[in-house]
Amino acid sequence: MHIDGHGFASPARVIASPHVDRRPSGAGVRLVVIHNISLPAGHFGGTDIIRLFQGQLDCNAHPDYAALCGLRVSAHFLIRRSGELIQFASCHDRAWHSGVSSWQGWQKCNDFSIGIELEGTDQLAFEDAQYQQLNALLDAIRQLWPDVALAGHSDVAPGRKTDPGPCFDWTRVSQAGSRFRQSVMPSD
Ligand SMILES: [Zn+2]
Repeated sequence: MHIDGHGFASPARVIASPHVDRRPSGAGVRLVVIHNISLPAGHFGGTDIIRLFQGQLDCNAHPDYAALCGLRVSAHFLIRRSGELIQFASCHDRAWHSGVSSWQGWQKCNDFSIGIELEGTDQLAFEDAQYQQLNALLDAIRQLWPDVALAGHSDVAPGRKTDPGPCFDWTRVSQAGSRFRQSVMPSD
C-alpha cells in the first residue's frame, strides 16, 4: 500500500465526506488516532457508518440514531470487519473524528492527526483482517510521516471516549506504534 501525492491510499475505496476541511496552516501529521464504530452498535456490514460520514444518516432508522441527528463527523479511514479499506478524506486534509481532545499538551487533535475507524465495538475482538489492513495502512502513513505517533481515541479524550476499547490488542499493531503508545502513556 502507498499514499499518493493527493493523500489517498492505494488501494482504498474512496467515498468523499463533506465533513472535512483544511488543516490549519503549519499543522502537519503528527498522530494517528484509532477508533471503533458500528451502526447500530454491534451490527456490522451495513452502510450506516458511510451514511453518517456523508451526512446522510436516516435519523429515524434506529432508536439510537436520534442522538446522531445532525452530527457532522468523519474519519480519514474505515477498516471493515472484512479488512476492506474505505477512505473519506485526504490525509492532507482535516477529518472530524476526535472532537474535544488533546495529546501531549496540544489541543484539537483533528488539526494534526489521521483518524482510523475500525468497524467494531468495545466488547468484541477485532478481526485478523482488520489488524493486517491497519498495519499495512500504518506502514504507508509512516512512509510519508516517519515519526507519526499512535493513540486511541480514549487516550486523547479520556473520560469522554472509550474506543477503541479493551478488546483492541495494541500488541498486534506494528512495532513503531506500540513504542509510541508507551511514550504517550508511561503509566500503562
Ligand atoms: Zn472514536
